[in-house]
Amino acid sequence: MSECIFCKIVKGELKAYKIYENNECIAFLDINPINPGHTLVVPKKHVENILEADNDTISAVFTAVREVSKLLINKLGASGINIIHNAGRAANQEIMHFHVHVIPRYDPEDIGLVDWWRRNIKKLNLEEIYRRIIS
Ligand code: 5GP
Ligand code: ZN
Repeated sequence: MSECIFCKIVKGELKAYKIYENNECIAFLDINPINPGHTLVVPKKHVENILEADNDTISAVFTAVREVSKLLINKLGASGINIIHNAGRAANQEIMHFHVHVIPRYDPEDIGLVDWWRRNIKKLNLEEIYRRIIS
């Protein structure tokens, strides 16, 4: 995976503001932050996303996500955290190396993400969708 930007960051070939590291993962600041402290947690091993990752990798990534969340709350005074993972092009995954966005939130009045989320609610037939899922 010599072309992968995040593999290059893992290997230290590309600069990033690394704020956390353990045996399996690193975490570094997103180059285009939504909020101060917006961080990406990535496994050192290249895997595309949560759908391709093995359980040990998923476990290591989400354990690191929690550690990073606590760090951002302690050091930056965040009062909440949004955790986002985009898996696949349809979900707007741009970098095809598993990463979890950890986005510190500071102000309950800052509607940002939540506003976007709530504005896009669709009127759907839940009964029909439920039947497709369980059949
Ligand atoms: P995705 O849409 O794939 O979930 O998000 C990829 C994220 O990676 C974006 O938020 C983008 O700003 C970030 N990103 C892309 N290239 C780089 C880079 O070279 N360095 C860092 N630190 N972040 C990057
Ligand atoms: Zn990679």
